[in-house]
Amino acid sequence: MGGRPLGQHFLQDPRIIDQILAAANPQPGQKILEIGPGRGALTYPMLLSGARVLAVEVDEQLAARLKPADHLRVVRQDILQTRLSELLADGPYKVVANLPYYITTPILEKVLQEGHGLIDELVLMMQHEVAERIVKPANRLSGSLTHFVRFHAQAEYLFKVPPSAFLPPPEVDSAVLRFRLHAPPEDCLARRFFDILRRSFAQRRKMLRSSLKGLINDEQFQKAGVEPQRRPETLHFEEFLALERCSRS
Ligand code: SAM
Repeated sequence: MGGRPLGQHFLQDPRIIDQILAAANPQPGQKILEIGPGRGALTYPMLLSGARVLAVEVDEQLAARLKPADHLRVVRQDILQTRLSELLADGPYKVVANLPYYITTPILEKVLQEGHGLIDELVLMMQHEVAERIVKPANRLSGSLTHFVRFHAQAEYLFKVPPSAFLPPPEVDSAVLRFRLHAPPEDCLARRFFDILRRSFAQRRKMLRSSLKGLINDEQFQKAGVEPQRRPETLHFEEFLALERCSRS
């Protein structure tokens, strides 16, 4: 991402800012967690709508320069080092962020994994390529992140954002997605499910029979209705769930 320290690409296009605000739809009194407020391009318009914004910014100077305002709390912290169960204890929160792209995946993993009961919805801007991976299951772009997200949330692609919307412009297109958290699927052992995903996609060109050797045998593949010659990127979420279930039988 152009080598910018801390992924600092600030929104400058008022039409894109308006589009993100329309998607976030902040309401009076609503609690919003903003990750990386930067110079406040999204923060102040959200406050104008009457929402209460908790802004977590790792950059000391940026955090110090945010103008104090009613209903704004700035926490100078690395979001990845933050215990969400403490920070968001008075939730539920909506998360709104133009994410620092160098840590998109770890942030997503953290907020989805720790967010149950604390966060109900997220409106996030990220690299277009990562967005595509998330919303296109059973496609050559899909990976363990696709199914990890689907395990925790329903993701919806909202719109594409060109580099010119930012200052300085990043090198790639961006996209805004909405995530609605839901309860994890019933009758699924999460650790085992993620282990199957990890092993399947660690060698994405290999057949599942070989990647999952020792974990799932041919009979179990058959019970799950998944041919063992298939490659991981051809599987739908439900097929991975079936593999996890049958791997225990
Ligand atoms: N929200 C602003 C905007 O849209 O103009 C800034 C977005 S910029 C893409 C990402 C922001 O995240 C920067 O302000 C950066 O300092 C901050 N950031 C980077 N790493 C972070 C981390 N680990 N925890 C919290 N904030 C972080």
